[in-house]
Amino acid sequence: MQAPPRLRSIGHFIDGRILDASDSGRFGDVYDPARGHVQARVTFADDATIDRAVRAARNAFPAWSGTPLGKRAEVLFRFRQLVRDHATELAQIVSSEHGKIVSDAEGELARALEVVDFACALPQLVKGQFSESVSRNIDTYSIRQPLGVCAGITPFNFPLMVPAWMFAIAIAAGNTFVLKPSERDPSAAVKLAELFLEAGLPDGVFNVVHGDKAAVDALLAHPAVDAVSFVGSTPIARYIYETAARNGKRVQALGGAKNHMVVMPDADLDAAADALVSAAYGSAGQRCMAISASITVGDGADAFVQKLRERISKIKVGAGDDRTNDMGPVVTPQARARILDYIDQGERAGATLAQDGRSISVPGCEEGFFIGPTLFDRVKPEMSIYTDEIFGPVLVNVRARTLDEAMEIIERNPYGNGTSIFTRSGAAARKFQNEVQVGMVGINVPIPVPVGYYSFGGWKHSLFGDLHIYGEDGFRFYTRGKVVTSRWDETSAGMNLGFPTHK
Ligand code: NAD
Repeated sequence: MQAPPRLRSIGHFIDGRILDASDSGRFGDVYDPARGHVQARVTFADDATIDRAVRAARNAFPAWSGTPLGKRAEVLFRFRQLVRDHATELAQIVSSEHGKIVSDAEGELARALEVVDFACALPQLVKGQFSESVSRNIDTYSIRQPLGVCAGITPFNFPLMVPAWMFAIAIAAGNTFVLKPSERDPSAAVKLAELFLEAGLPDGVFNVVHGDKAAVDALLAHPAVDAVSFVGSTPIARYIYETAARNGKRVQALGGAKNHMVVMPDADLDAAADALVSAAYGSAGQRCMAISASITVGDGADAFVQKLRERISKIKVGAGDDRTNDMGPVVTPQARARILDYIDQGERAGATLAQDGRSISVPGCEEGFFIGPTLFDRVKPEMSIYTDEIFGPVLVNVRARTLDEAMEIIERNPYGNGTSIFTRSGAAARKFQNEVQVGMVGINVPIPVPVGYYSFGGWKHSLFGDLHIYGEDGFRFYTRGKVVTSRWDETSAGMNLGFPTHK
């Protein structure tokens, strides 16, 4: 398929330059989700382009990993400032291709910068340990060294923040990086690469390649890729984890989610309703930490659902470039069709459709991929609207009698990304925090995404691998340990064929 000339073309960024030409002859459509038309074509990489990017990263590795720590930090500080200077432009790029409201994209950018802030402390974070006199005249010390070429494969829903979770730490630790962003909103990644270059990052340290499964498979198979970080849906996360591990690469793969909020009868119900509506419908529900299932405990469910409906009726849905809107469209027509199908399924399964967003029309944006906020009540855990990650503005409410019953429901769910409880009881909160099988927990906080100096990661089918992403876990993932045992003494230790001991 040839790209029509009037459409903007989005190229790769390899070795410090944008490559515009379509190498594979394959393109992806990039939509304007609010207006419902294709606004650009992104060129898809073939094996030769992936090889070119990986070789650029491999060639840049010796010099970058040997660059003094303070110099690396300086580049990151400059990059951080440039990203701040271009914050509005970056947020607009994200909003135009993803559909989220510009202010929401600015929030994403702020969270991306938190991780860059943390990475700027790299001289402290890559420090090793030293033990003097582990045996007579013998000292032992550990050092952490970069891995080499790291690849990142990222989802559409956070085109700035999720790549930053990876590349900021990987590059700070002395690695070089090849990013394969989502083909649905790829422009933000290219802009970040340009800003890195302006910040003084040497050519080849940060590269961006576009594509779909073919590009990902070429990265997973490339012998010069040492580590792979993935964030996306669970079936692909499992595939990436298994394939990269089989190919001998270090891998962490973060998957999908069904995040629950438990609303206890003693909670401040107005605060809980405000928090739940924000967490369910922000970014049109396309957040990995969106609350997509609530569990109301006890008798207050009717009153609580009424509070949700009152708030939902005030949500202003519209284009992302109008800051007065609260919620934008979903990302593609395919996503819209999938979400509408789930709403139909929920209705057929007998859940109570307390708020139906199917027939929304946004004046001036009639072709946009909009779905209004949708709420189901009296949902049963066996219904597909509960079991599956819908990834749209659809909240399902399950009713439970006790906290134990609510926690059993969460326990049976295969996902374990984030969860929260709203309560005034310290005992309930403590029990929840200790026993729930989920990686990130909020107590009277609806979206408990850890700040940049902690690490982010789910449990169960929400993460394949051992280390969480960014924070100290990020530095552990992107470095490997080496332990040196040294003896400095003028005399010989003598000959002894026994296994060395510390005496
Ligand atoms: P996705 O899994 O469809 O795509 C993610 C990446 O994988 C993209 O770069 C895509 O090009 C690539 N990809 C798609 N199909 C592939 C295949 N068959 N083989 C190899 N690579 C393939 O996810 P998405 O729709 O872009 O993003 C939404 C999903 O990401 C949701 O499930 C959401 O929960 C999840 N997510 C999780 C987190 C987290 O931290 N756990 C964060 C953000 C998003």
